[in-house]
Amino acid sequence: MATTRGALQRVKIHLNGAVQGVGFRPFVYNLAHRLQLKGYVINDGFGVFIEVEGEPHAIDQFLIRLQTEKPPLAHIFSQEVEYLSTPAGYTDFTIQKSDAETPKEVFILPDVTTCNACLQELMNPADRRYRYPFINCTNCGPRFSIIEALPYDRPNTSMKRFTMCPECQQEYDNPTNRRFHAQPNACPVCGPQITLLTAEGTIQTEREAALQHTIQLLKEGHIVAIKGIGGYHLACRADWDDPVQMLRERKRRNEKPFAVMFPTLEAIQRIAEVTEQEAGLILSPAHPIVLVRKRLPFRLSEWVAPGLNKLGVFLPYSPLHHLLLHDLGIPLVMTSANLSDEPIVKDDEEALQKLPRFVDFLLVHNRPIVNRADDSVVRVMAGTPVPIRRSRGYAPLPIPLQLPLHRPVLAMGAHQKNTIALAQANRVILSQHIGDLETADALANYEQIVERFLQLYEFTPEVIVVDAHPRYHSTRHGEHLGQRWGIPVIALQHHVAHGLALMAERHLPIEQPFLAFSWDGTGYGLDGTIWGGEVLEIQFPQFTRRAFFEPFRLLGGERAVKEPRRVALSVLFHLFGEQVLDMDVPPVRAFSPRETRILFQAWKKGINAPFTSSVGRLFDAIASLIGLQQVLSYEGQSGSRMEDLYQPEITGAYPFEITEGKIQWAPLVQALLKDRSPMEVKISRFINTLAEVVIQITTNWPHAAGVTGGVFQNRPLTERILARAAEEGRTILIHQRVPPNDGGIALGQAIYGGYLASLP
Ligand code: ZN
Ligand code: ZN
Ligand code: FE
Repeated sequence: MATTRGALQRVKIHLNGAVQGVGFRPFVYNLAHRLQLKGYVINDGFGVFIEVEGEPHAIDQFLIRLQTEKPPLAHIFSQEVEYLSTPAGYTDFTIQKSDAETPKEVFILPDVTTCNACLQELMNPADRRYRYPFINCTNCGPRFSIIEALPYDRPNTSMKRFTMCPECQQEYDNPTNRRFHAQPNACPVCGPQITLLTAEGTIQTEREAALQHTIQLLKEGHIVAIKGIGGYHLACRADWDDPVQMLRERKRRNEKPFAVMFPTLEAIQRIAEVTEQEAGLILSPAHPIVLVRKRLPFRLSEWVAPGLNKLGVFLPYSPLHHLLLHDLGIPLVMTSANLSDEPIVKDDEEALQKLPRFVDFLLVHNRPIVNRADDSVVRVMAGTPVPIRRSRGYAPLPIPLQLPLHRPVLAMGAHQKNTIALAQANRVILSQHIGDLETADALANYEQIVERFLQLYEFTPEVIVVDAHPRYHSTRHGEHLGQRWGIPVIALQHHVAHGLALMAERHLPIEQPFLAFSWDGTGYGLDGTIWGGEVLEIQFPQFTRRAFFEPFRLLGGERAVKEPRRVALSVLFHLFGEQVLDMDVPPVRAFSPRETRILFQAWKKGINAPFTSSVGRLFDAIASLIGLQQVLSYEGQSGSRMEDLYQPEITGAYPFEITEGKIQWAPLVQALLKDRSPMEVKISRFINTLAEVVIQITTNWPHAAGVTGGVFQNRPLTERILARAAEEGRTILIHQRVPPNDGGIALGQAIYGGYLASLP
């Protein structure tokens, strides 16, 4: 049950790159034939499109070998893969003729991981760019992070301040050279340089000496801020407790896991269990952070990802990373440099102002970062890669739509994990991860990114779509812009936006009815409560709330989001009233008797205790009731720990009832309280119960259905639902190109505004 990958699988692969006229399609043809895969390859307006079907293992191999065996002149800048469960029944693999009229789309590429040719030069003592941390060529190097305006020419990038030396200029002008028109072309004579600074900002060392010095410092266990492609990282060795613990203390980040960068895939495999499919993702062009299972005993510091059996891993993607990791040979914690809830630090003055409290030294360089881009995060669920954060390496690639939109739309996103979108014709440009809009700096950054995107794409929206929450900053900013430009601003309910995002990325016809299970932490409901456990029947542009979890109170409002014990108490009060004060259960023990009494009064009178139907909170309540987690150290912690304890061989579930569209969790909680099984069993039965809710509700639903919202970052829940659906002969869709969390909201908003027949 660990995976639901059937006997046959079909994938769609969208590639961008320098792949035309270099023998790429014949290579794809031969590789597909060797692996006995059927389908076709074709050039399209976005690059190259491949569709293959066959054995899942052969498809994994195909994706890996696409990267490792491609012709030397073929360069893949980006790759996005969609998995389909229904085979198309191809009988052969063919090279299809492309429509010669297909217009070449103008779009901004994401930053491209250092290519092999550049890596060889980087490590070759005879090369003039030997150990030069900014080596790049037409096929690799920074793109989105350095662009100020289109077209993508050097004067429109942050490389404009560097004048090419005669040798570089010659390469740039020579059509037969690998650096012909490589906009960031540079060398040690004319290009950017690195400098090592103390936390006070004093120059320590420069160039190669700075590199050597940094390596020495990291070896000794220091924490160093390192300026990268899309922002600064905080780095320290991942195999020693002291630096990692120190970093946690300084960042006041108690338990939230850190990502680790390894020198090679082999080094990752020594520390973690990596499936073939995960290896393919780790090696894929974006070099995202991939969540993999720790090998036990864990050979890095426990402080890297405390209390979890998974780890975010990635490979070096810039020449500077390669030099550091190659020389060190030790995995490094590489976490985004930011104060909590603030954007990743990208500017040097900002770094010197904000980072010294975290680090001993800063490794900086003088190539300005124009556009921030955090590392992307992906995990494999049910045999499918699912984005958790779509940013560096993917954004701002367009997401193609089935049908053209009626008008250009600006979508403002939600409040957490914000992204924005510009949508026009048959594509949606989804921004990089902007993050939570909590602090003044985060808001300023958000407004700048909106401004920059409009200006970069010379985009004039005819409508703005915002979340229905009237107090979200994104909503207010959207209203402000709408007023300024005199265009309509439409509010779209949060969980409908989740559902539409899923429909859009899975290319469902917009007029077709769709059943969306939109389960997350929080979203503004249309009845004065907080929604988050919704089953929505979408019949565009209408929707009905077909079912939802029986609402319960959030004791203390926002505080309940951080304290599962408050949610658990509320659930208990709901079931047992005042008797709870005498119960001997973990959430009651987690408070003093006085506190419990006060909370009971607040519950009874409804003081600062709004109602919610949130499944995210229900996870929290269960985590508290079974004694796993009373207070969270980071968002999503209880769910993340629960999924690690899930036992796939346990198939039982707890009872539940659906009465008048309300999913009653009372029988579930009552059964769980009586269950004397170990914690793992209770967690498994709880998660299985949620899966049964989905299965029961889809039983007589004749149209497409899918699951969306932050809750579906949970791997066992998602896999259990898909496995049970397969048993029942049903298909339930999951996200593959945008995150199920609020990072995908802007896509749903965008198509809503774009497909509406008429505007208000
Ligand atoms: Zn290169
Ligand atoms: Zn030069
Ligand atoms: Fe949400």
